[in-house]
Amino acid sequence: MRSISIFGATGSVGRQTAALIAHQGGAEAYRIAALTAQSDVAGLADMARQLRAEEAVIADPAHLADLRDALAGTDTRASAGPQALIDAAARGADWTMCAIVGVAGLAPTLASAQAGGTIALANKESMVCAGDLVKAAMAKAGGTLLPVDSEHSAIFQALAGHERPARIILTASGGPFRRWDRAAMAEVTVEQAVAHPNWSMGRKISIDSASMFNKGLEMLEAMTLFDLRADQVDVVVHPQSIVHSLVEFADGAQLAHLGPTDMAGPIGYALNWPARRALPLPRLDLAALGSLSFEPPDPDRFPALRLARQAMEAGGLMGAVLNGAKEKALDAFLDRRCGFLEMAELVEAALDALSHWAGETSLDVGLAGVTEADLAARRAVDQRLDETRTR
Ligand code: NDP
Repeated sequence: MRSISIFGATGSVGRQTAALIAHQGGAEAYRIAALTAQSDVAGLADMARQLRAEEAVIADPAHLADLRDALAGTDTRASAGPQALIDAAARGADWTMCAIVGVAGLAPTLASAQAGGTIALANKESMVCAGDLVKAAMAKAGGTLLPVDSEHSAIFQALAGHERPARIILTASGGPFRRWDRAAMAEVTVEQAVAHPNWSMGRKISIDSASMFNKGLEMLEAMTLFDLRADQVDVVVHPQSIVHSLVEFADGAQLAHLGPTDMAGPIGYALNWPARRALPLPRLDLAALGSLSFEPPDPDRFPALRLARQAMEAGGLMGAVLNGAKEKALDAFLDRRCGFLEMAELVEAALDALSHWAGETSLDVGLAGVTEADLAARRAVDQRLDETRTR
């Protein structure tokens, strides 16, 4: 029986993964080694009961007693704290879903990579901040890395059986503010930014999609995941989100992956790879859709793409700097400490101030060095926020 762990089990990707596992036989078909959450005790305990998990880990140690209570009468072991998360990852599983949000997912992803097995990677921040380190750990342990981000899953699928691409083209929906002018975007509220037109996702990635920082992270993720140069990664806006991405070969031929806007597709592909099983998804009806449209992204209203390219061209740990600054700026936006467009200004200032991190890679400095770059970026954003407040 294949063993499975889900890190970030109570999130949007985690819940959809658990639902697919239940759909494919649940505890009768799989051995669930570990499920984890940050603070959602009830959600974690319910899932652990349903899937008969061996271990449930809550990252916030303040919730351990509640988790033990919630699991009373089951065989599920309860544990808590960041180290318990890493220990559960280090014990390994045949298939691990890495779906913690943010750089918090890096240490458990790296521990899973070191343990071997198959990693289904939703936590794009691991690739953005320390892709070389994670890939080297996977290679050493003999594991398999399967992308879960819909665009990267699309590219992975389009590349199957082909030689290296000349270029890849990530599609972007353009988010809720695709047609808004800068003046209107400056006034965007958290509630408006969370409402994505096509995809149902976690709160943070929804806001990142609206600012296109998510696409910027995906550019960095794709470069590392598929061993490409910065100039081989492009973005096209495709408001319907039906074409999930494209690859282009030396002869100019482009292969696209099409599917419904539902994460069950890429999650199910990774769960069943290399087989393909029927998934609980509607079939795509192109005639009913009628038309698909494409347009170039607007770099003035969406500076996130330019900033991601800057980080890609600089190389080294600039992905970790960009991500750390972006996470801090996003927290500031959620706390109403900065406006929607100011997030990009904060990230740009951090990239400019910390350009020396381009000289080191995650392989040179290891997890501790990546964490240092991440913290330096967060401090740079904090400092800038303090300066603007006192001005
Ligand atoms: P959510 O915010 O919905 O869920 C995040 C999960 O991580 C929850 O289980 C949460 O626990 C847990 N978590 C949050 N912070 C921490 C922490 N500091 N330590 C340990 N666990 C933590 O995120 P999504 O599911 O939307 O996204 C997860 C990842 O997948 C992200 O990297 C995102 O970019 C990527 N992704 C998401 C897609 C989507 O459709 N949602 C699509 C493609 C990629 P709790 O519930 O207790 O807070």
